[in-house]
Amino acid sequence: MKDRHLTSFTGMSLEELQELCKSIGEPVYRARQILLWIYKKGATSFEQMYNLPERLREELEKKNLLFQTEVDTVAKTIDGTEKLAIRLFDGNIIESVLLRNRRKVTACVSTQVGCAMACSFCASGQLGLERNLDTGEIIEQTLHIKNHLHQNESLTNIVFMGIGEPLANYDNVIKSLKIMNADWGLGISMRHITVSTVGIVTGIRRLARERLKINLAISLHASDDSTRSGIILSNKKNSIRNILAAAREYFRATHRDISFEYTLIEGINSSVQDATALARLLNGIRCIINILPLNPIEECELRPPDRKTVEMFCNILERNGMVVTLRKKKGDDVNAACGQLRLQRYKHGKRYKTRKTGGGNHPLSFA
Ligand code: SF4
Repeated sequence: MKDRHLTSFTGMSLEELQELCKSIGEPVYRARQILLWIYKKGATSFEQMYNLPERLREELEKKNLLFQTEVDTVAKTIDGTEKLAIRLFDGNIIESVLLRNRRKVTACVSTQVGCAMACSFCASGQLGLERNLDTGEIIEQTLHIKNHLHQNESLTNIVFMGIGEPLANYDNVIKSLKIMNADWGLGISMRHITVSTVGIVTGIRRLARERLKINLAISLHASDDSTRSGIILSNKKNSIRNILAAAREYFRATHRDISFEYTLIEGINSSVQDATALARLLNGIRCIINILPLNPIEECELRPPDRKTVEMFCNILERNGMVVTLRKKKGDDVNAACGQLRLQRYKHGKRYKTRKTGGGNHPLSFA
């Protein structure tokens, strides 16, 4: 297990690393040299940074950490999706997913260990929240995925759709997405980064004020508060009306269309009336509706509707002028939606130090 008391470099901004260099009597340009090794050359140890003086490499090795996490296991699926189980300094395991869709290579990252939102259909919500991930722990997921790509591939997109509610870990998420975007960092355009939220109104408003031009995805799942509260417990604090007002504010500030995620659940939110009400609710908002038939988990009785119902639901939305995407499930054979792996491990008493991998239900699916 890694020593938490050492300084981790992956959560640092350029300015912070420059300060650190100054504090140990090194020129500030060393900071860019080190970041180049981390983000562009895929270094995983200070030893590999051969253009740094040897005494500096040794000193850095003694007092700092390059990576504070490590890949525990990787599960591959027949559709090219790969799920990485990543071990944290405290032994906890989180999940990150690599998704391939033609030339789009996407890293889906987790932001918390567990989740307090308790969505009824989600494996991550079943165990509650343990803690927030720090910036380095979020960034390292993308680095592990990047270092895992084939030679002819490069990372093009990042989605915050793994375990946890990103806006409940606001500061670490914002800092990590700035590092992902920076020219000295991963260099991913803000337009290729998506933050998915269950609808934390204060967080959406704060995000709008950042004017970062990232994509915002809101998990809606119902068109009325009473149905939504039965699916998402946090809806009691964030009514649909307030969520949509915040979404409009986000659009005004960034001019980015909003994505609404809608998981179809049999007998709960998938009727003709539900589709009509959803179209009416979102009428006038610049948005895309992403429909995802539920990815069922063993621990909950909820099931997806049949194919005919799914098609009927999408058709009604389209007839009402909505832009609709029916998302394909990816990584079924490793349970690729978030939290399933962690839940399975917990249930089998394998919370720490296990050697198998799996997958989960936050919408880890792509059109
Ligand atoms: S769906 Fe997302 S917000 Fe809801 S419990 Fe799962 S991880 Fe948390």
